[in-house]
Amino acid sequence: MSSITCNYQQTVSVAERLSALADAACQHCGISSKDLLSHSEVLEVCAEEFSSDIASGQRELIPVALCPNCHKKHHLDARNNHNPCQITARDSREWLD
Ligand SMILES: [Zn+2]
Ligand SMILES: [Zn+2]
Repeated sequence: MSSITCNYQQTVSVAERLSALADAACQHCGISSKDLLSHSEVLEVCAEEFSSDIASGQRELIPVALCPNCHKKHHLDARNNHNPCQITARDSREWLD
């Protein structure tokens, strides 16, 4: 299991995780699961926002495969603090733009 506290990993189903990891490369930096394995690391699953419904505020998430390094960054908020919810973390970064 991941050392990163990740809300999404608590809720993702096994099927969703397997299908995300079937791509077998980090969706951010492109490192393959084979390359990671040579550093004894594995891809981790997280989610990105696919769409959000403005009326209901409902957000649709899609699972993505990330290497541990990119996964960590995915959860950093604007102050470089770890946020278990990657969507809130990203929102806080975007406020700075
Ligand atoms: Zn990566
Ligand atoms: Zn995550």
